[in-house]
Amino acid sequence: MNKPANANLFSRLFDGLDDPTRVAIETVDGQRITYGDLIARAGQTANVLIARGVKPGDRVAAQTEKSVAGLVLYLATVRAGAVYLPLNTAYTLNELEYFITDAEPSLVVCDPSKADGIGAIAAKVGARVETLDADGKGSLTDAVATAKPEFTTVARGDDDLAAILYTSGTTGRSKGAMLSHDNLASNSLALVDYWRFTNKDVLIHALPIYHTHGLFVASNVTLFARASMIFLPKFDPELIIRLMARATVMMGVPTFYTRLLQSPALTKESTAHMRLFVSGSAPLLADTHREWMARTGHAVLERYGMTETNMNTSNPYDGERVPGAVGHALPGVSVRVTDPETGKTLGPETIGVIEVKGPNVFRGYWRMPEKTKAEFRGDGFFITGDLGKIDRHGYVHILGRGKDLVISGGFNVYPKEIESEIDAMPGVIETAVIGVPHADFGEGVTAVVVCDKNAAVDEAAVLKALEGRLAKFKMPKRVFIVDELPRNAMGKVQKNILRDMYKGIYEK
Ligand code: AMP
Repeated sequence: MNKPANANLFSRLFDGLDDPTRVAIETVDGQRITYGDLIARAGQTANVLIARGVKPGDRVAAQTEKSVAGLVLYLATVRAGAVYLPLNTAYTLNELEYFITDAEPSLVVCDPSKADGIGAIAAKVGARVETLDADGKGSLTDAVATAKPEFTTVARGDDDLAAILYTSGTTGRSKGAMLSHDNLASNSLALVDYWRFTNKDVLIHALPIYHTHGLFVASNVTLFARASMIFLPKFDPELIIRLMARATVMMGVPTFYTRLLQSPALTKESTAHMRLFVSGSAPLLADTHREWMARTGHAVLERYGMTETNMNTSNPYDGERVPGAVGHALPGVSVRVTDPETGKTLGPETIGVIEVKGPNVFRGYWRMPEKTKAEFRGDGFFITGDLGKIDRHGYVHILGRGKDLVISGGFNVYPKEIESEIDAMPGVIETAVIGVPHADFGEGVTAVVVCDKNAAVDEAAVLKALEGRLAKFKMPKRVFIVDELPRNAMGKVQKNILRDMYKGIYEK
């Protein structure tokens, strides 16, 4: 696949398509959408966008349930030279008000049930509203049905914007990460190679499409490889295990893996047709990796990325996939670990902040030039805010977000270290360690632990198990046993919620 004259991601995806009859997307209700269909539908939808006044560079915001029409809207927006802005379906009107007034789209597409509320917000920025429901029906679809499929893909340069994705923003306001056509194309092409995608692959696509993982990694990689995807509206473990009989790859967040492991139907036999399981967006517990290996004979391939950078590192396809590590920098990407205070590059096995540079790294935060400047080094490296280290063998390890670092009595405590110790106890499923304001220590190390239902694990048992294994300043001051940890849709533990829940416990 050579680079076509037009750097538009759509051209890079589809120019030179050899077989339009190949199936690109299958749905659970039996639809089979070929590559030819997909291009035609994107053409029709792009024509509707233009008719609604969308111009190159304009934002098209979409808060819709996952559907093929939703994916086509993304492709059509890019094809029309506009900027796609997907919004988490969980956002309330109050939250949408911020995104819509910040991004000032010229068109907003939403579920019919929200059309009135969103209409009032859209009116403030002069945006039009079209609707699209979970079944792919709505005013947008009605207009698309009668539109012409012919459409000349709008010429774009490498650095022109293809999408803005707002970061999940667990602290402060979320920021719009501006992603260019080349950011998206270069990263997907690197992954096609690294993960050995071919047109024989069938991907189980159960991720949401408002996030980088499901929208770009899963969809773009499949389409670049001319592979096909089975598009599931949501995560359904039993259905997924049945589909493994004819699929080859699954991309998931760690919760997919822990939930699939709960099914007795997950066996070596039921996964025999699969060639690759990829995990990312949140840390995959080393235990989950090992259990998956024992049950299925497959080593999950863990990779690391973020909205702002697409994918940065990946465990190798052929070499060792190390549990608890996120692998090496992808080709073309540079990764380094630096001292957060001085910015000096640190050697192997030393914990610091992870920085990345490469064609994958975004063009900055939408309308936040100061914030953007503050998060890049002078030599172009982006400061991810993730703490980690590169081990002796060149594998990157993530130790949590910088903002999750606990500073107790002036000492830095890396939550991951304590979490791993507690996770290793029999009967413990997972742990989140947080810093909670403490009258004497500034922050008190606090562990929140999920155990097996029948395990006899309590606070005293956890503290006893840690004794002598951790320096005193790292020892949790309190341990709480809970049924589950709060997570967002991408499987990330929401430590901000935990910090809120436990604040006040160490006050005098
Ligand atoms: P998002 O922008 O929502 O994709 O979140 C990106 C963040 O998720 C990263 O900065 C990491 O903190 C975290 N993350 C992504 N992949 C992994 C992984 N494999 N292991 C640990 N953390 C991860």
